[in-house]
Amino acid sequence: MIGGVVVLCRFGEIFLKGANRGRFERMLIDNVRRAVADLPEARVSAPHGRVLVTVPEAGLEDACARLTRVFGLVSLSPARAVAPELPVIVEAAVTQARAALARDPARVRAFKVEARRSDKRFPATSYEIACEAGARIAAATGLPVDLHHPPLTIGIEVGSEVAFVFGDVRPGPGGLPVGASGRAVLLLSGGIDSPVAGWLAAKRGVVNDAVYFHSPPFVGEKSRDKVESLARALGGWQAMRSLYVAPFTEAQKRLREAGPAELAVVLYRRMMMRVADLIADRRGAGALVTGESLGQVASQTMPNMDVIGAAARRLVLRPLATYDKTETIALARRIGTYDTSVLPYEDCCALFVPAHPATAARLADVERAEQGLDVAAEAAAVADAAQEIPIGR
Ligand code: ATP
Ligand code: MG
Repeated sequence: MIGGVVVLCRFGEIFLKGANRGRFERMLIDNVRRAVADLPEARVSAPHGRVLVTVPEAGLEDACARLTRVFGLVSLSPARAVAPELPVIVEAAVTQARAALARDPARVRAFKVEARRSDKRFPATSYEIACEAGARIAAATGLPVDLHHPPLTIGIEVGSEVAFVFGDVRPGPGGLPVGASGRAVLLLSGGIDSPVAGWLAAKRGVVNDAVYFHSPPFVGEKSRDKVESLARALGGWQAMRSLYVAPFTEAQKRLREAGPAELAVVLYRRMMMRVADLIADRRGAGALVTGESLGQVASQTMPNMDVIGAAARRLVLRPLATYDKTETIALARRIGTYDTSVLPYEDCCALFVPAHPATAARLADVERAEQGLDVAAEAAAVADAAQEIPIGR
C-alpha cells in the first residue's frame, strides 16, 4: 500500500451505535467490495472504523465515482499512502497541495492543514505535524494559511504502519448500507417519480426488486425498454436485483369493464398492489414502494391513495408522498434517471380512462366493482406470467 493511492471511505456515526453495528458494518464493506469488484487490482480492507480501497493510480477516478454511489458512505478522499515518517509525510503534503493548486488555481487561494495521529508514539504531535507541513506548503506554493474558511484543506492521518495524505474530501450519498433495512418490491413505471422513490428507499437500506405493468399493444416495447434502463440506472446504486415485467393488458380490460370509468385508475392500481404483493411473497420482501405523491394527480388524493393502499397486504412505502415535483425532478437529475424518464412513453394507467377520474373513490364502491371479478385469481395469473430480468447488484 505504501507509495500507492488509496480511497479513504468514511461512514456515518448513526448506525455505528447499538447492537446492529457489526452487521451494518459488514454489509457496508460487502457493498464497497461489490462496487469495485470488476476494477482490476482493487483491494478492500477495513481497519477500525474505516474502509480503504487500494487501486492502481489509473483506476482512482473510476473507483471514486463508484464509491460515491455506495449508500452508507458519508465522504471519501483519494489519498496517497506513505511511510509514517515526518519528512515523507510533509513531502506528500506539498505534492497534494501543488496538485490541488494546479487543478483549480482560481479557487485555491489559501489552505490549511489538518493532521491526526492514531499512533501516539509518533515523534511529533498532530499540531507539530500540521505546522511543519503548513510551513513547507506555504514556502513551496506561496499560498497563505486560512484557518477559518480555507478553500483547500490538506488532511494528514498518521497510523502506526502507514500515513495518508489527501487534498480532497468528496461527499458520499449518506444513508444506510443497501440491504440493512431488508427487501421491497418497487412499482416501477417509466415516469419520473417511481425511480426516485426506489432510490430513496435504497438510501435507507432497502434492496429493491421492481415490477413493471406492461400493456401491449397499447403500450409499445419502447416503454418496456425504457423501464429496463431505469432499473439498470438504479442498479448502478446497487439498488436493484431483478425487474419483473408483468403483462397487464387482459386484466386491465376486465377491470375497466367491471366498474364505472371514473374508478378505472383506482381499480388498476389496486390490482398492481395485489400483484406486487405476490411477487414480494416470492422474493421475501417486507414492503412495497411506489412513486405516489400527495395531490399530484387525481389518483393521488388522500382518499384514493388510502383505497389503493387498502388492497396491499404489506407495508407500502411512499418516499415521495410529501415531495414537490420540482424536488423530485432535481433528485432524478442527480441520480441519473431523469433523461431516461422524460423520453416519450405511454402510461398504461391512461388506457381506457375518462378525462375526469374520481378524486375521492369510496372503498365500498370499488369493492362492489371488484365483486364481478375474481381479483385474487387475476392477480395470481399476472404475477405468474411476469418475466424476470435480472439486473444484479
Ligand atoms: P411515475 O412518474 O412513477 O409514473 P406518476 O406521478 O406518473 O409516477 P402515476 O403514473 O399516477 O404517478 O403512478 C403512481 C405510482 O404507481 C407510480 O409512481 C408507480 O409506483 C406506480 N405505477 C404506475 N404505473 C405503473 C406501471 N405501469 N408499472 C408499475 N408501477 C406503476
Ligand atoms: Mg406515471
